[in-house]
Amino acid sequence: MFIARGIQQLNQHLNKLNVKEKSVGFVPTMGALHAGHLELVKSSIKDNEITICSIFVNPTQFNDKSDFDKYPRNDYDDIALLKDTGLAVIYFPNADELYPKNKAELFDYDDEKLFSVFEGEFRPGHFLGVTTVVMRLFEHIKPNNAYFGLKDYQQYLVIKRATPHFFRNLNIIGVPTVRNESGLALSSRNARLSKPELINAEAIVGSLRSFSQNKRKLPIGTIVKNGMTAMKEKGLEPEYLVVCNADTLQEISNWDEADNYVALCAAFIGGVRLIDNLLF
Ligand code: AMP
Repeated sequence: MFIARGIQQLNQHLNKLNVKEKSVGFVPTMGALHAGHLELVKSSIKDNEITICSIFVNPTQFNDKSDFDKYPRNDYDDIALLKDTGLAVIYFPNADELYPKNKAELFDYDDEKLFSVFEGEFRPGHFLGVTTVVMRLFEHIKPNNAYFGLKDYQQYLVIKRATPHFFRNLNIIGVPTVRNESGLALSSRNARLSKPELINAEAIVGSLRSFSQNKRKLPIGTIVKNGMTAMKEKGLEPEYLVVCNADTLQEISNWDEADNYVALCAAFIGGVRLIDNLLF
């Protein structure tokens, strides 16, 4: 496994690997890696001859400076975790190579207005930052396949819709969410929670499951109300709990309005913001 710091080291190593002749899989991350990230890496290794994982805590996708400052950073542990996976390269990009001063272009592609709802509403500018960093990383790496967790379902849709407008022949692949034994979605942010907070955070997935369990049995409004109450009782501060058409991300209020559903939730606990969703 080669550790590339900056674009020059990356290109030198990729030339040695003769990448032009090979299929390249790419997994972008912000580090503080866990079994969820490893699932993406495994999927890529299965599908491709060469897999590259990037680690970069991207400032432009944080609307809250203190969230960016507190984001866990753990390069040493991340490298140790990736060492025996079969990964070809870990890429630590330089911020000034991703965001050169002479390159103002942002990847502002949002035909379907996905940038401004849910995560976009509560984190203004978030998806412009995400799309820009991901497209710049695609420029650096030129992958054939790129892997994103369905854990960040809205992000997955945003990238899937934007990519074909900038890169032909690049497949965006969604990987199912990895959860702990109680159902809590693994997240780098979980590292900032105490044991009791981690247990209380399970109310998020409980509220999401309630949509699939009560599908067409209870009115959506009732499920939302009960879910919000259940989360608040556990000390969570929910920002949104909705069910949407999984293809368009249009919120629905009636079961007849969609065939494929995604329930989405964001909530704070102990000052940490968690998101999760369930496709059903
Ligand atoms: P992050 O480092 O949080 O930006 O995440 C990097 C990638 O890992 C994103 O595509 C996430 O959706 C994905 N990811 C994060 N947590 C999980 C999880 N629990 N299961 C599957 N994928 C995940």
